[in-house]
Amino acid sequence: MFPVNTYVLWDDTKEAAIIDCGCLYEKEKQTLKEYITSNKLTVKHLLNTHLHLDHIFGNTFVVQTFGVQPEACQADEFWLEESVKQSRMLGFNWHEAPAPIGKYLKDGDTVSFGNTLLEAIHVPGHSPGSLVYYCKAHNCMFAGDVLFRGTIGRTDLMGGNFDTLVEGIRTRLFTLPLDTTVYPGHGAQTTIQNETMENPFFKGLNP
Ligand SMILES: [Zn+2]
Ligand SMILES: [Zn+2]
Repeated sequence: MFPVNTYVLWDDTKEAAIIDCGCLYEKEKQTLKEYITSNKLTVKHLLNTHLHLDHIFGNTFVVQTFGVQPEACQADEFWLEESVKQSRMLGFNWHEAPAPIGKYLKDGDTVSFGNTLLEAIHVPGHSPGSLVYYCKAHNCMFAGDVLFRGTIGRTDLMGGNFDTLVEGIRTRLFTLPLDTTVYPGHGAQTTIQNETMENPFFKGLNP
């Protein structure tokens, strides 16, 4: 019902990190599990870019199946409870209570698995605790709902702030190498260069 991107990152060591497990339906959960097991991966982290409901639907499943705890920013913790309320309002058949945050991540924290290192960049505005996971070595970022191809995250939900979001994208993301690939929480990938030039919120901006 909400198309959302769930990312599985892994390297030669077969250690893996899952970012934003959006799996709600059994079939989606089994597809994820099948991918992990058929590639013989060891899941080391479950990272959340933020805690809006569509990004946490599958957290409990991942906790129970792979024995890792969700890692997210404390500023979004209230969304766990709000997400349950929202899911009821929207008529989702979401039986599981969302798994509590097992580890708080803040700006500048690093997360590692195998030979891979990610850095958390705090870019609030879509939600107060939105984190972008940046991999310098592989020149890419997992941006959640901060930045999309051709648009930015909505700011009308609880704790959102348009000016904060725009400023955060400008100062924290557009200052990274222009050829950095952006993998967003919804929709297709893009690059920083593309968004500085084509995104209507920043069009013609000289980063
Ligand atoms: Zn969101
Ligand atoms: Zn989302």
